[in-house]
Amino acid sequence: MSTSSQYDVVIVGGGSAGITVAAHLQQSDRAPESIAIIEPSDTHYYQPIWTLVGAGVFDKEISERPMAEFIPEGVTWIQDYAETFDPDANTVSTQSGDTIEYNYLVVAPGIQLDWDGIPGLADAVADPRSGVVSNYAYEYCEDTWDTMQTLQPGDSAVFTQPATPIKCGGAPQKIMYLTADHLRKRGILDDVSVQFYTPGTVIFGVEKFARTLRDVVDRYGIDVHLHSELVEIRPDTNEAVIRGTGGGDSAPGERVVSYDMLHVTPPQSAPDFIKESPLSNDEGWVDVHKHTLQHNTYDNIFSLGDASSTPNAKTGAAVRKQAPTVVHNLLQLMHDGEITAPKEYHGYSSCPLVTGYGKLVLAEFDYDNEPDPTFSFDTSQERYSMYALKAYGLPQMYWHGMLRGRA
Ligand SMILES: Cc1cc2nc3c(=O)[nH]c(=O)nc-3n(C[C@H](O)[C@H](O)[C@H](O)COP(=O)(O)OP(=O)(O)OC[C@H]3O[C@@H](n4cnc5c(N)ncnc54)[C@H](O)[C@@H]3O)c2cc1C
Repeated sequence: MSTSSQYDVVIVGGGSAGITVAAHLQQSDRAPESIAIIEPSDTHYYQPIWTLVGAGVFDKEISERPMAEFIPEGVTWIQDYAETFDPDANTVSTQSGDTIEYNYLVVAPGIQLDWDGIPGLADAVADPRSGVVSNYAYEYCEDTWDTMQTLQPGDSAVFTQPATPIKCGGAPQKIMYLTADHLRKRGILDDVSVQFYTPGTVIFGVEKFARTLRDVVDRYGIDVHLHSELVEIRPDTNEAVIRGTGGGDSAPGERVVSYDMLHVTPPQSAPDFIKESPLSNDEGWVDVHKHTLQHNTYDNIFSLGDASSTPNAKTGAAVRKQAPTVVHNLLQLMHDGEITAPKEYHGYSSCPLVTGYGKLVLAEFDYDNEPDPTFSFDTSQERYSMYALKAYGLPQMYWHGMLRGRA
């Protein structure tokens, strides 16, 4: 039987963004009277650690916690999928047919992984013995480590990045550097061909960090192919079809590359239910102002995280800076009737680029690709301290700080 209910604030998605916003709202001395989170999953994942799971540093279970432990006390958890929005009536409908009415809405359902976007990918990645792996899903990230260990002299390890926006733009490279370092430790790096195919025009968009990454690529002897994208996988013959986009050194047209290990970052896009909703822009993302995170058409709607239209690098680190902006502006609108003194987000994002076991370059930058450092020392150099921060410090900060509204 369908029901209807009403809340001051409804949050769609209980991932990094949804839970962080709920925690900040609930703790505010101007907290709304009623908050609900629509989130279907029993489990909350700390996705950034999947890079190190794929490299054999941690078991995948380290990334999961029961969702129930992170829904803030006093917040109602509606365990369901949001399906459609009627912003003129201020309602969201769910998969089970319920209608939920809101005064203010925060939309944060993350990004969609389009495994079907590359022919051959969905079936190959689901088969742990195919050689095709991806750190982009909890259920697959351990296969990366299993496959990495099977590499032998004469083999090829191929890494790809799609042409679409993705979450954590550094993740396709991090696992490549870890694989190369693993091969180095085994003494077979010179005998395995490590290749990277990316549609990008540079190895990294911020020159300060790209400089170090070029040295890392040289050190490992990695073949980097810019202007190149994976368009098909032929798992029966262990072949990847790569299309040159015609820029730089890539010839237009297709070529076939053999692989023994193929790490794929899948194409990604806004979730279908967002694309089909009145909330989306032409590219399908929730259409918000890039500084205030307020919807460009509907004043009582905000969005942050991977599903929003803000042109920052999509990361959890960005979410940590966006959440206080959404909360400040939403509460001001709720209590004062307008946003007279908006809090602004300026595109901060951070990409901890793991360049080997115990080595990390911490890239922090803003909308203009200008470095936006937290630390006073130079994090464009490879450092153990920054690796330790990613492996041990940031997960604690996430579970105990960010998701509790304390960081
Ligand atoms: C391999 C990998 C490495 C990464 N490394 C880093 C890193 O080093 N640093 C970093 O900062 N970030 C990293 N990230 C990115 C980071 O995890 C994301 O940017 C972040 O989780 C985005 O938060 P979000 O809340 O927008 O989306 P998510 O955290 O993905 O949460 C979305 C939530 O919405 C829910 N949802 C989906 N559909 C619906 C629906 N219809 N109705 C209601 N709820 C729905 C989902 O169940 C989920 O709980 C990495 C990601 C991956 C995959």
